[in-house]
Amino acid sequence: MYDHRMYDHRRLGRELDLFDTDPLMGAGLPYWLPDGAVVRHTLEEYIREAERAAGYRHVYSPVLGKRELYEMSGHWSHYSDDMFPPMALGAEEVVLRPSLCPHHALIYRSRSHSYRELPLRMAELGGMYRSELSGVLGGLTRVRAIQLNDAHIFCTLEQAVQEARAALELIARAYADLGIRAARYRLSLPGEDGKGKYVADPELWRRATALLREVLDGSGIAYEAVEGEAAFYGPKIDVQITDPAGREATLSTVQIDFHQPERFDLHYIGADGAKHRPVMVHRSIIGSVERAVAHLIEEHGGAFPAWLAPVQLVVLPVAQAQVEQGEEVVRRALARGLRAELAAPGDGTLGARIRAARLVPYQAVIGEREADGDLAAVRLRDGRRPGAVPVAELLRRVGACVEERGAELWRAA
Ligand SMILES: [Zn+2]
Repeated sequence: MYDHRMYDHRRLGRELDLFDTDPLMGAGLPYWLPDGAVVRHTLEEYIREAERAAGYRHVYSPVLGKRELYEMSGHWSHYSDDMFPPMALGAEEVVLRPSLCPHHALIYRSRSHSYRELPLRMAELGGMYRSELSGVLGGLTRVRAIQLNDAHIFCTLEQAVQEARAALELIARAYADLGIRAARYRLSLPGEDGKGKYVADPELWRRATALLREVLDGSGIAYEAVEGEAAFYGPKIDVQITDPAGREATLSTVQIDFHQPERFDLHYIGADGAKHRPVMVHRSIIGSVERAVAHLIEEHGGAFPAWLAPVQLVVLPVAQAQVEQGEEVVRRALARGLRAELAAPGDGTLGARIRAARLVPYQAVIGEREADGDLAAVRLRDGRRPGAVPVAELLRRVGACVEERGAELWRAA
């Protein structure tokens, strides 16, 4: 019987030594073990590369900001329940940031911009903080310290729809590469709320909502409009995913924002030589890195695609006499940039070592015959056994699969 608890990322994370928590570090503050750090690093590099290719440029900004910054952005009056209390620092108060938008708005504002520079796409994989109550914390999905894949596109009103649409395409491509399925697209609108949850400016909400509908309709994407799920400063498109237990969460978002450019008094110089207000498109491809990795663990049951796998190739000498050759194969794999490990005879019987490596995409068994001929008897994670092939061919095939970020481990020759 299918038991979704088998695929719970908290269980797999501990079993596979990916991440863990310590009561002294605190609830909702997981740490990453080396194998988990490899997955995270590979994912982050993938995102940066995809963003560079799509014309984004990366910045770094601090995880702290003065209280006045969040008063200006509106977080202080609309979002403070989710923020950590401010820290007194002499006469100042600083806050762990609840989002990256205010910093990026300041970076944009620090230089003058011509219409010729737009759309200006600013990206960052940066830390942010949320004061989740301990009762809802667990694993990587509800954490207090978040590494966010974020970007802000400063553009003209005429460019906003195209930029938002391109962001949705970037999300769809990333999902295909990562093996993530979108459960549904949601147009998140404000709800009936009198308690100051949303900024008040009906005209800006109406315009932003109309543009997001245009983006979705133009992309031919089926979506549902849901009230009460908007950001405090504007509506958004949310890409929803489900976990093995069927619970839904937001992974990716795209927003068209007229509010922050007003609050920060952003402008660009138009072709007419006059000052104009840019639009801010907020977008995240994979949302928080923590939630994305949690989802990847569950989606793949720990059997990551080869390019994301902590160990891509495990080398198994049958007996002590083949250990030296096994070490040589590992060295050659590492020199090619692959992640390879030796499972030595001292670690157990060959059968036990093969079982221990069941989530590793490629297993190379080296017996006497293989060692003599510079061969490896190849076993794949999916159960196929291509048999004895030259080590050079094995490394070439593993390298090609990783480089293409392919799902197919072994193509017919
Ligand atoms: Zn933002």
